[in-house]
Amino acid sequence: MPDYQLIRSKRKTLSLQINYDAQLIVRSPLRLSIKKIESFISEKQNWISKKQAQIASKTTKKSSYEANDEYLFLGKSYPLKHTKTGNPLSFDGKHFALNTKYLGVKAFHWFYQKEFIKTAMPLLEKFGKKHNLAYQKVRFKAQKTRWGSCSASNNISLNYLLMMAPLTVIEMVIAHELAHIQHKNHSKDFYSLLKKMLPEYQQADIWLKANSQKLHSL
Ligand SMILES: [Zn+2]
Repeated sequence: MPDYQLIRSKRKTLSLQINYDAQLIVRSPLRLSIKKIESFISEKQNWISKKQAQIASKTTKKSSYEANDEYLFLGKSYPLKHTKTGNPLSFDGKHFALNTKYLGVKAFHWFYQKEFIKTAMPLLEKFGKKHNLAYQKVRFKAQKTRWGSCSASNNISLNYLLMMAPLTVIEMVIAHELAHIQHKNHSKDFYSLLKKMLPEYQQADIWLKANSQKLHSL
């Protein structure tokens, strides 16, 4: 099930819309059940993915990896230096250093993935244990339209480009996908579990929606 924003109003039919930020907006009659809404979304999955990919590819600005360009790490931006030795990319807390033997885009993907795995694994462990939510496998990949997913068999996938976002945003996405182990929908029960896991999840969600284009600019 893709993530979506549900807007209920006095209308007779369901409608789906993909906004400028590749988010799915669902407009529904006041009393239609979540089950019916989500089965409608499932039927339209191909259309949704296609539209989201189109929008994501249009809005993504490609980076040039010049010295002094700024890149994000845990929600803050830092300037880039060029170097001729060492790892493809390193970070000393003040600067990124790109070894110019490597392609900038590859070096950043390598770095964000490595750092994200280090950050995410303990969080999966912590939230999972505390709330008794056991996942099967976890995968880390960069995706244009999703921050995470949880399959029917509880395999979790997380977008390592989240390494650019503040820690609470990373926690929010991890808590969200773990909560899907218990609730395979975005019902009230799902959100009350998420709130129990991470009371500040709404602020994190707002940050992510406002900044998601930046996180796709590599
Ligand atoms: Zn979800």
